Amino acid sequence: MKELKKNFKNSHILIIGSGIVGKFNALELSEKGFQITIADPQKSKNSSNASLGLLIGHMYQKSKGRSWELRKKSNELWPKWIKFLQQYNESLNIEKPLIQLTTDQRKFEKLSQFISNNPKRDLQVLKSESPIIKNINKIFNINNLKGIISYQDGRINPISLLKTIDIYLKSKNINFMNEEIIKIQKIKNQWISTSKNKFEIKSDAIILCNSLGALKLIDLNRNDIKLKPVLGQAIEISINEKEINLLSLPKHFSINNKNFLPINKNKIIIGSTDEYDIKPKENIFEELTDFVEHKPQWLDKNKITSKWFGIRSRPEGEASPILKSLEKGLILCTGFYKNGILLAPACSNWISNEIENHLL
Ligand SMILES: Cc1cc2nc3c(=O)[nH]c(=O)nc-3n(C[C@H](O)[C@H](O)[C@H](O)COP(=O)(O)OP(=O)(O)OC[C@H]3O[C@@H](n4cnc5c(N)ncnc54)[C@H](O)[C@@H]3O)c2cc1C
Repeated sequence: MKELKKNFKNSHILIIGSGIVGKFNALELSEKGFQITIADPQKSKNSSNASLGLLIGHMYQKSKGRSWELRKKSNELWPKWIKFLQQYNESLNIEKPLIQLTTDQRKFEKLSQFISNNPKRDLQVLKSESPIIKNINKIFNINNLKGIISYQDGRINPISLLKTIDIYLKSKNINFMNEEIIKIQKIKNQWISTSKNKFEIKSDAIILCNSLGALKLIDLNRNDIKLKPVLGQAIEISINEKEINLLSLPKHFSINNKNFLPINKNKIIIGSTDEYDIKPKENIFEELTDFVEHKPQWLDKNKITSKWFGIRSRPEGEASPILKSLEKGLILCTGFYKNGILLAPACSNWISNEIENHLL
């Protein structure tokens, strides 16, 4: 670490995009001793702020390949980063465990098989007679749920995470520019980025963390990169039924890939959908609750008190996420689709090693 600080002390890195991916990179690279500037015109209106913050690492049903390796790395790094960030916000935490439920018997059998093949992952089958399942069945008026519980997975509050990294970045005097970058070019060995307001930012390297926006800044003739927008929506339901206490439910769980986060005894968040579009659909409630045939009274469309969406970028023709060195001094870090919060530590770790090849 000391060696790096000495060699790279004066290298200036521009990070374009301040979602979780941009901010995590800024955090790790700043700790390594680089000078960082972040540019983003809309730092609170992005996919990261819309996210639910579930960290589905250990219950990922593969044990090899790049996606698993990235998850494994994030699983390992998250506790270290939480400990570090707690210096800036002691309440930041990952709330465990995480529960995954299904109404599909075949899917349940696959999950059970996966658990018996992976005894070290700290997972357990939840059968229909488990008290947790019985309570969920009762509240949702269903009777065919089964699933698994992961004691090592959980949820981090994404807004609190982003704000905590902001406190860190401010304490390090990281330069933040409220600017949209519209052009990047390399002149001799220096990168010049031009913003919409005609500011010019000189840097030794650029990291593109601007999701779909990255496509506008790179030469697509030289780089065959395709990204598709995938909209994710969430709703908040507020109820006033004496006999239902939403806090009797687990802190976070999923049923047929829809996520549930009880907020207090009368409020629950449900998300998220998967729409290959940039405009939200109207039938969001139906889509998020389609697993309940006879909906209980409390689960009512008219009880939606808030809804929001975020646009995620999904790579086409290659796996998510895209982590690539495009040319000397230019790194692409995009296409995080459903797992940007989970994978941010593994990706910033990759970048912090990769950047050395660019600046040596
Ligand atoms: C409803 C919903 C629920 C989700 N739930 C989870 C979950 O439970 N767990 C999980 O891990 N992930 C989840 N995700 C996915 C996760 O939110 C994304 O993968 C992650 O936020 C991607 O982060 P990012 O930093 O790449 O992109 P973003 O957060 O979208 O940030 C990109 C930033 O780039 C900026 N930008 C764009 N163009 C430019 C430019 N030219 N100049 C400067 N700045 C620019 C934008 O303003 C934006 O702030 C969810 C997403 C949604 C929508």
